[in-house]
Amino acid sequence: VPLDNLPGFLQRWLAPLATPQLAVSQVLLWGGAGTLVVAASAYLKGLGSGLVVWRVIGDLRQRLCDRFLSLDLGFHQGRKTGDLISRLNNDVTYTQNAVAFIFQDLLQQPVSVLTGLLFLVALNWRLTAAFLVILPLVVWPLRYFSHRIRRAGEQGAQSLGEITQAIHQILSGIRIVKAFGTEARESERFRDINRRFFRKMMSIVRARALSGTLMEVLAYGVFATGGGVLLTWLIREGAIRDLKPGEIGVFILIGVQKVFSPLRTLGKSIGNVQATLPGAARVFELLDTRPAVQDVPGAPPLAPLAREIAFERITFSYDGASPVLEDVTLRVPKGAIVAVVGPSGAGKSTLLSLLPRFYDPREGRVAIDGTDLRAVRRDSLLRQVAVVTQDPFLFHTTIRENIAYGKAQATPAEVEAAARDANIHDAILKLPRGYDTVVGERGLNLSGGERQRISIARALLKDAGVLILDEATSSLDSASEQAVQAALDRLMQGRTTLVIAHRLSTILHADAIAVLEAGRLVAQGTHAELMAQQGLYRRLYEIQFARHQPAGPA
Ligand code: ATP
Repeated sequence: VPLDNLPGFLQRWLAPLATPQLAVSQVLLWGGAGTLVVAASAYLKGLGSGLVVWRVIGDLRQRLCDRFLSLDLGFHQGRKTGDLISRLNNDVTYTQNAVAFIFQDLLQQPVSVLTGLLFLVALNWRLTAAFLVILPLVVWPLRYFSHRIRRAGEQGAQSLGEITQAIHQILSGIRIVKAFGTEARESERFRDINRRFFRKMMSIVRARALSGTLMEVLAYGVFATGGGVLLTWLIREGAIRDLKPGEIGVFILIGVQKVFSPLRTLGKSIGNVQATLPGAARVFELLDTRPAVQDVPGAPPLAPLAREIAFERITFSYDGASPVLEDVTLRVPKGAIVAVVGPSGAGKSTLLSLLPRFYDPREGRVAIDGTDLRAVRRDSLLRQVAVVTQDPFLFHTTIRENIAYGKAQATPAEVEAAARDANIHDAILKLPRGYDTVVGERGLNLSGGERQRISIARALLKDAGVLILDEATSSLDSASEQAVQAALDRLMQGRTTLVIAHRLSTILHADAIAVLEAGRLVAQGTHAELMAQQGLYRRLYEIQFARHQPAGPA
């Protein structure tokens, strides 16, 4: 190109190329600089897409965790923990592939295809049209595979959930496994699940490998042959007579590199993503689940209990079919201790779990001073209610934090006072780091009685007006039993208490006893009144309470 014909700035820019030696040095200079720019942009691109991907994944995990926390107990009890963990871990990681695909191939490859096509059209539109006729032949069969891969991916994600579930079961039941010596059986069970997963994964691998192979065959067989036939025909017909062989070469080069290859890459990534989309679907299915127990918009807070808690004509069932509670009406005046007794499976725990709204009744209502609990904010309700369960759960953190769980801002003095009242202070001081001792996984390094007293201290510190108590059935040794009993007595003082009673002293001290049988309230009254009736209560008393008399004062 004669330099003189070019604009001034280009002349100046190209001048260094005037002699071959200078040209070489300039090529080196600009080539080197260009490489640096390309490398830097590749680095930034990698960084940028990584940033986006991990942000999205982190955000997704956070939202899943928040969803788990907001879902009601009914949801959690109907699910396997391992499956939920698998969704949070494996399925979210799978989702990462889909996100990476969106931010990489899905954005990049189509741009390349489009620019390539524009170039081809500029070169020869007739030939481009012919090229576009063959293209679907190559891309279309991929649909079949992507469907297959997707189905296998669905089963793979489920199967991975089963693996996590199995591990979770084994680890949380390790004491029982050890006690029964069933390691070999558990290992075999796990092997089965593991094998199932392997088979699912292999069917994905097979489908992917097959689609890859077919792509090659189509690419270099069908595409080349079809292209050759078409080209010959077009040349014979005189449609592209004006095209020189070199131009045909350029056409094929660009067609393959800029249009066909990116499409192939896209096809491959779509295959990969198909395998992972079901995992993403499992994540979004959970994100879309709505809790069954929710505040109504604009619900007011609950006023402090002034007169009574009332269960009014309650009917409830877990599965919507077989009722667990039927037409139960029970009133608990402020400050009273009401004991609920009944045979195993009568519905005692279920009835009490309606008060903190673990579940809502199907029919009837639970009301505090005449206000339906469903009409108020649940957090305000929970501030008034403390729950002490049979088998208290301690978190894997310090004793102090475990006691202060319901009142995070409690001072050390308050925590200590609660521990003293719960008869656990001295035992805590004997621990290696006192209140700062970290409780082992699932509280393994504390005795049953100590754990109960820590959970009583927790309830004492929370200082809620209403207490729901599920007395432990397992008998402790008499010293421990007395310590727990004294702590419980202190906890019940000045509060309104609903207690599932297993201890004789509790029913003797109760202001009223409610007797449940198969979901119905069959009798109600004081110990003396109920004993006089010669009914279920008297029988229960004789077989359970009188015989099972721990070291209590009665
Ligand atoms: P126990 O004294 O043995 O603890 P209970 O009187 O407290 O028994 P509940 O635990 O309320 O009885 O159970 C009442 C019935 O409801 C039982 O038949 C039980 O199988 C069923 N049940 C309890 N919890 C659930 C649940 N989460 N999902 C389905 N059914 C449940």
